[in-house]
Amino acid sequence: MSRRGPFLDRAQETRAPARRAAAQAGALRRLLPRAVRAPGTRARFAQAGLTRRGLRTLDDLAAVPVLRKGDLPALQEKAPPFAELLAVPLARLSRIYLSPGPILDPEGDAPDYWRFARALTAAGFRKGDLVQNTFAYHLTPAGMMLDLGLRRVGCVVLPAGVGNTEIQADLLRRLPVIGYVGTPAFLLTILEKARDRGAAPGRDLRLRVALVSGGILSDSLRKTLRDDFGVTVRQAYATADLGCVAYECAAEAGMHLDEDVIVQVCDPRTGRPVPDGEPGEVVATALNPVYPLIRFGTGDLSVLDRARCRCGRTAPRLTRILGRVDEVPKIRGMFVHPRQVEEALAAFPEVTRFQMVVRHRNHDDVLTVKVAVAGSAPAGLADRIALALREKVKLRAAVEVVEPAALPEGAKRVVDLRTWD
Ligand SMILES: [Zn+2]
Repeated sequence: MSRRGPFLDRAQETRAPARRAAAQAGALRRLLPRAVRAPGTRARFAQAGLTRRGLRTLDDLAAVPVLRKGDLPALQEKAPPFAELLAVPLARLSRIYLSPGPILDPEGDAPDYWRFARALTAAGFRKGDLVQNTFAYHLTPAGMMLDLGLRRVGCVVLPAGVGNTEIQADLLRRLPVIGYVGTPAFLLTILEKARDRGAAPGRDLRLRVALVSGGILSDSLRKTLRDDFGVTVRQAYATADLGCVAYECAAEAGMHLDEDVIVQVCDPRTGRPVPDGEPGEVVATALNPVYPLIRFGTGDLSVLDRARCRCGRTAPRLTRILGRVDEVPKIRGMFVHPRQVEEALAAFPEVTRFQMVVRHRNHDDVLTVKVAVAGSAPAGLADRIALALREKVKLRAAVEVVEPAALPEGAKRVVDLRTWD
């Protein structure tokens, strides 16, 4: 089957940038009356001295203060469940998720609510393809996000979820699985497992396309997956709040912005857009009538590139995601807050201080938690802490006991040693 014709909607994706800007400004003007029905949004506008009529163009958006993702947990706690940002009655939702943060995420009932069909189409997914979906289906929205997008494209979904490595590797052989969605590291894991068990790529394994997210796809990993397993891998950038924000095309040179999200790359301190080509925080406005997040600060750092792409799409591209604005690192696709570690360590009074060290090794994120203990540490302390981290806050981490002098007062709680090259 041909994997060409890579557009979900060619006219929309290849329109002139000025036409896109005009269409998005129009959509924003139509959205605002709905958005300000939500008391939380109305209050945000009032505090900034803004009226919705003052927002006529996309440039006007810059006047709206950034709503920070990092502030959502507290805002939701204060005004449950959705910080009064939901623009429809709760009864109109189809699902509610809880993503790490913790943050509650509402889902409306549109067929491809999280807008992944466009990214999947660009990645080569086609009607009738059998696709193994290895994103989590419980609590967090990732599994259903992709599921809805895959169904919109017409794919047959194997809702595999996370884990069960051996079963997942066997499914790749037992069924004519053409597509994969999940993290890049897990794709390599199950393909290697299948190969170790005697399945030959191309003969026993029919996997050809993958859309990955929630982890770093290095050039070397992409090459391994293509050369050794014949899988074309594309990535998407998404958040649990917004759904799909940007996605790769065949050029594999940055991620095109989705047509229904307005993205500005902004100075994290001022919230003002930075010049194109400079790094800044991804601030997104979802043209979503259910949960219209206006100027949502994702906390992710990237660069906007408006150069023409050879695929024919005219939407600007985000170059790769460069890291996190604040100190909440994204580890294996999940935000891990130092608070979570603190919570698990509460049961260990001998620990006086801690530091999270994140590295990138063998295409995977590796977390080490250093704990300072005064005097001699009790036997087995590191193991017991590792167990507490795993059981209490679902964190896989190596634990290293250090002298208090190694973690002086004021030492950073998060040290991210990953290189984003
Ligand atoms: Zn392109």
